[in-house]
Amino acid sequence: MIVGIDAGGTLIKVAYTENESLQFIKFPIAEMDRVASWVNEQSDSKVCVTGGKAGVLLSLLNQEAREIVEFEATHLGVKFLLARMERQEESYLVTNVGTGTSIHCIENDRQERIGGTGVGGGTLLGLSHLLTGVTDYEEIVRMASAGSRDRIDLKVKHIYEGKEPPISGELTASNFGNNLFAVAGELSKEELLATVIGLVGETVSTVSVHAAKQCGCSTIIYIGSSFFHNPLLKEVVTSYTLLRGATPLFLENGEFSGAVGAMSLL
Ligand code: ATP
Ligand code: MG
Repeated sequence: MIVGIDAGGTLIKVAYTENESLQFIKFPIAEMDRVASWVNEQSDSKVCVTGGKAGVLLSLLNQEAREIVEFEATHLGVKFLLARMERQEESYLVTNVGTGTSIHCIENDRQERIGGTGVGGGTLLGLSHLLTGVTDYEEIVRMASAGSRDRIDLKVKHIYEGKEPPISGELTASNFGNNLFAVAGELSKEELLATVIGLVGETVSTVSVHAAKQCGCSTIIYIGSSFFHNPLLKEVVTSYTLLRGATPLFLENGEFSGAVGAMSLL
């Protein structure tokens, strides 16, 4: 068996081949012992690990394993998953919305990390919990899909009252910037969660579009588990990326890019 593991700040992503077919599984970082035991039970396996917690995982393995730098693994994995989707892209930006967000420019088959933001999936979980008490990721994204941001976000058109704004009135002028003091007590969890996802989505797409301009590419490939089962985040990121003149692309199983890239080295 060939196994690639990306042990990140929040989740461990595992990609492996079984009977020639590619399998994917995720575990919370708290279950690292379980992942290590599973790997240790496999006979005749080749293993390559990556991610910020790769060192900790390696220390729990009984067998030799390779290690690869996370950014290289992600680059290789994105190439593999793009080919699997029969896409021809050669130069593009990769925005990995993990616990934090990391942005990479891919050109001439080489990746360069050009920036990032601390606003990412960890922000989504943390702010959601502080504002609503909800802790479960799946519950957060499900409730957010039923919420509206209208009472919490301030749009450009709200500021330019009775006047044509110089930029799209639909852009957010201020996340959480509407007249909150009047309605704070009556806001629903759904509204608050939708607005948190709006903040994360608009921040990562705005930073990405600037980065794409800087490196002269128009396609932005978004990956990371923050998009998993999260249609609202995808929608916010898609519309903001398009509105700002770039083309978004979501990879199937994109959150496994690092794991697949690590596996592809074996
Ligand atoms: P990093 O790359 O920053 O070290 P990571 O690789 O662990 O972190 P990802 O797995 O890409 O990051 O994404 C983590 C985010 O995905 C979480 O912050 C959360 O928003 C979201 N997420 C998706 N599924 C889950 C889940 N089952 N439990 C917790 N968070 C989840
Ligand atoms: Mg990661």
